[in-house]
Amino acid sequence: MTEFSVIDRYFRFSHAGQGVDIGIGDDAAVLDSPGKLVVTVDTLLPAVHFPASTEPAAIGHKALAVNLSDLAAMGAQPKWFTLALSLPQPDHDWLAGFSQGLRELANAFDVALVGGDTVRGPLAITVQAMGIASPAGVVLRRGAQVGDDIYVSGTIGDAALGLASLQGEALEEAAAHYCRQRLDRPTPRVAAGLALAGLATAMIDCSDGLMADLHHLLSASGAGGRIEFSDLPLSPAVEGWLATGGDKQRILTGGDDYELIFTAPPEVRDTVREIAKRSVTSLTKIGVVLADPVLTIMDKGKPLALDREGYDHFAEHQ
Ligand code: ADP
Ligand code: MG
Repeated sequence: MTEFSVIDRYFRFSHAGQGVDIGIGDDAAVLDSPGKLVVTVDTLLPAVHFPASTEPAAIGHKALAVNLSDLAAMGAQPKWFTLALSLPQPDHDWLAGFSQGLRELANAFDVALVGGDTVRGPLAITVQAMGIASPAGVVLRRGAQVGDDIYVSGTIGDAALGLASLQGEALEEAAAHYCRQRLDRPTPRVAAGLALAGLATAMIDCSDGLMADLHHLLSASGAGGRIEFSDLPLSPAVEGWLATGGDKQRILTGGDDYELIFTAPPEVRDTVREIAKRSVTSLTKIGVVLADPVLTIMDKGKPLALDREGYDHFAEHQ
């Protein structure tokens, strides 16, 4: 296979339209943006961002999902993406699976692959996604106000438990399967993110762990906060694991959930409930923003002590 046949066969799957004047095939793409462009990029490396055993279709899904999640966290509408792929060799089975996972998610969210780069080298996947800011404006990390409610979408800790299960943690088969799906195929919360533009005072997506990402949001806002462990939305798999002695810290600090963490004033609770219904995404209030710039997690009336917050690529020890 030549570089060009790889591109034609596996990556020329998006249709024209959707504001794509020129897509794959020229020196650069030409896009017609109807509003402010919101741009993000993420690189995925084996063993760092996905276990080496991950099936290619899940890698394709995740490479795009993590970027759509970033756009969702800005309250933006995803439109287009580019793909820079470094591959050790053009392996048909791998490319077919990867391309299928990527294409299915792209089509589900109506985003077009408009260009990229394909090189031979160690496996590395970089996706850059572009979206349009909501007319209501973008939602930044820095807008949380003292007294705001803190919310999280979906459930948290599933991906951490999926990783733990791959590393040998004993789980019931159904729970292990569910958690590994959550790790491999995160759902970007695009509809909820868009609906929250103009309403949420601050937002971030949860990639490094609930504590770490909430801390990022609060410190960008010059505030602190308190959350209640018993208010956290947990899946039956995580509930079951905790009931048999699982470590709460793992749920609080494990990454890869790609849920939205956001803040909003108590006056808009009913609207948040409406948005949850409309976007078919659970949105759960887990705490409150406080002036004192520390983040406390309460458990049965007492603060829970943590010895780490979440994943940091440059930390000496993990
Ligand atoms: P150039 O030499 O101008 O960088 P390339 O030969 O790298 O062009 O790419 C040819 C065309 O194919 C370009 O439009 C580029 O955007 C697109 N392309 C290359 N690799 C990919 C990929 N992995 N996915 C999508 N489009 C790609
Ligand atoms: Mg090139």
